Amino acid sequence: MKIWLIDATTYRRSLSPLQIENKRLYFRIKNYVKNHIVGPHEPPGQKCYSAGVLRIATILRHNGYDTEYIPLAEIDKMIENSERGALPDIVGFGAVTPTVPVCAHYSSLLKSSKNGIRIVLGGAHAHFASKTTMAKYPVFDEIVPDCDMVAAAKIIQSRPKDLSNPPLYIDYKILPEPLHNYCVNLFTSSGCKYHCGHCQDGLAVYNEYALDGGLSEVLVYLKPKTTIHYCDSVLGGSEKRAVEVCKKISSIKHNMLLSCDLRSEFISSELVENLVNAGFVELRMGLLSTDRHVLNNINRGGNPDKILETIKLIRKISKIYISIYITIGLPGSTTDAVDQLIRLVKHLLEKRYVDEVKCNLYVPYPNDDNTTSPIGVHIQNEDWTKYDRQSYPVYGLSKLTSDDIWNAFQKIEGEINISWDKAYELSRSGKIPDTCYPEYIISCYKL
Ligand code: SF4
Repeated sequence: MKIWLIDATTYRRSLSPLQIENKRLYFRIKNYVKNHIVGPHEPPGQKCYSAGVLRIATILRHNGYDTEYIPLAEIDKMIENSERGALPDIVGFGAVTPTVPVCAHYSSLLKSSKNGIRIVLGGAHAHFASKTTMAKYPVFDEIVPDCDMVAAAKIIQSRPKDLSNPPLYIDYKILPEPLHNYCVNLFTSSGCKYHCGHCQDGLAVYNEYALDGGLSEVLVYLKPKTTIHYCDSVLGGSEKRAVEVCKKISSIKHNMLLSCDLRSEFISSELVENLVNAGFVELRMGLLSTDRHVLNNINRGGNPDKILETIKLIRKISKIYISIYITIGLPGSTTDAVDQLIRLVKHLLEKRYVDEVKCNLYVPYPNDDNTTSPIGVHIQNEDWTKYDRQSYPVYGLSKLTSDDIWNAFQKIEGEINISWDKAYELSRSGKIPDTCYPEYIISCYKL
């Protein structure tokens, strides 16, 4: 039995000329600031992989199944180069919302090229919009759940208890290129327990994995001072477990530079000290809105002032690189709320309270259970390829049209660059590097 697992979790986005200009400047400034704050380091590779798809490939190979891991960008070549008889018997796609229609297209092509191919779809989208997806794309034979052993068993129509657990959590040799060419992501949990109304992470099943996220296994492939990101929605899954994760990582001699995401409400001096001891050099936090009405509307609660106190605390006791990310167009947003956010972000950058601000658009991803969808969102486009955090909004809000949201997004991207540049006087002193910081995300844009 031959199996192809297609990693369709990343894709290339088309950007407008203004966005291209803004992104180029952003990554040039980042090149300077990241090196200035973090010091010399091996930057992340420009390719990415889904650890979930690789984990399933690891389980299937370990259990004797002829399984190939294929990035979505390679599928045309694979189909072209395969004789009819060499095509697989089973194809599993790991997809995100914008790639589901693309996977459906290749599924039809594969089914018309070889009779009896079984095609399954997995990933967070498939989990929280399974009924909607099957109704829209009946070409998929089955949706597989978001849990590695169960998903692996479903792919081969077996039972999890018939599969044995591989000794390695992930076998990185399955990747087509050496691990150091990729942006290395590890995780100690998946899904998120906090269920904020705007965020798909809260809809995924919550699972816990090894406390070090498999750090020891990647060390043999990487040079010292490589940047590694822990991609848990919230490091460790909870405040208490974040400390346990740090303690576990501190016991490993790794010499890597780590980053993670955390909720600002969790952060205490104890946690910051643990993060520093574990080798974390970058901390990312969401600054969703300064407007309590917006926060309540998305079930986020919390005090908007808390993040500012947290930032000051981190600055006082550490040299950690602080990234915050903001989301434009959240349900309940108004022009005033957006303007307030822009003013705050400019202040934080100009005074160097934070080292980086990432900006995304809110996307109301499809979801079978409409009762959990935020209120006041009016979907205007059912084409899932457009459900992307950097593309023109597929929705409008009660008080903001899609044009208003899009204009605010483009404006804030420009303002971030101006304030960031000003903070370091880069243009004035001619210090902006010519090259962009080689973050994996650059490869996802058509620059
Ligand atoms: S916004 Fe953050 S805390 Fe809330 S569900 Fe998403 S990942 Fe979890």
